[in-house]
Amino acid sequence: MKKFKPQRVLIEKQALDYPLAKKLETQFLKEDTPVDYIESHNRVSPAKEMEPIELFNWTKETLVIGTKKTLRFKSCQPSADYRLVTSTSCPAKCEYCYLAKNLGSASYVRIYVNLEEILKAVKKHIRKGHGEIITFEASSSSDPVAVEHLTGSLAKTIEYFGKQDKGRLRVVTKFAGVDSLLNLEHQRHTRFRFSLNTKYVIDTFEHLTSSLKERINAASKIQAANYPLGFILAPLMIYDGWQEGYTNLLNQLKESLSQPTDENLTFELIMHRFSTRSKNLIEARFPNTKLKLNKKDYQHKGFGKYVYPEHEADKLKKFLSKQINDLFPKAKIEYFT
Ligand code: SF4
Repeated sequence: MKKFKPQRVLIEKQALDYPLAKKLETQFLKEDTPVDYIESHNRVSPAKEMEPIELFNWTKETLVIGTKKTLRFKSCQPSADYRLVTSTSCPAKCEYCYLAKNLGSASYVRIYVNLEEILKAVKKHIRKGHGEIITFEASSSSDPVAVEHLTGSLAKTIEYFGKQDKGRLRVVTKFAGVDSLLNLEHQRHTRFRFSLNTKYVIDTFEHLTSSLKERINAASKIQAANYPLGFILAPLMIYDGWQEGYTNLLNQLKESLSQPTDENLTFELIMHRFSTRSKNLIEARFPNTKLKLNKKDYQHKGFGKYVYPEHEADKLKKFLSKQINDLFPKAKIEYFT
């Protein structure tokens, strides 16, 4: 697995008041990575005008180091009570990235160095629950594992949640760099979900992420480290050989997990979908995409959203549910959508 190494680094001036920004500045200057200084992480663009593909590639090679100013967390229903944002975007280029629409041209990788302030805000949000368990989603605006080798922030956040009676953390990732997270005092307060798909789908559409094999190995290590574990199978796709692809994926998973009969295992199943806006973005950034985006083959769900027609959705649901129930009899399928 190749770790993200930016081609250029932009540091917000006020971020340099924090030790992590200073440390990264020293590290990148030593490695001869170009470093520049900016006023705000919200307004970043290249010096010259670029076409959409060139601009997209530029953003994904750029690391912006800043501070998170808004410490009032947004709701993250139905996944968790709140979004916990320690980074924005990620260095990978999944053609159907769930962040693409919201980020638009601001898809450059941002990390926030004021983690202590962010964690203090977590405490405030836990208190608002008046004794109820409050959950926080760490992957609503990024893949935090993708930048963990630079920040170490996820490890600190997991240990922080390990000490919270009423706080729980949820992480989703397509990356395998979990070794630094295995020996933490997590107290099972963090649930990891690995986003998986068939080898064909990962190799064709999820550029610069960890391979299927690497993700499954990482999931197995996370389970052995006693974290609660789950899987998001998304986007579920119908293509030539899809049944064989998903059967292989689930068999491989079963063989690799030390406890495939763990009753805490969860599966979340999400079908391929697109909107008019996401279709336009994907076609501009990946003009040779093999993604099927022909509206006439899909069912219009309103608000410009398209999903598989009912009979195909039903086929996917029945097939996947049966496979999961047979191979992981104690696992819970949380939803199919
Ligand atoms: Fe988007 Fe996740 Fe892929 Fe990164 S790994 S590009 S956040 S879908």
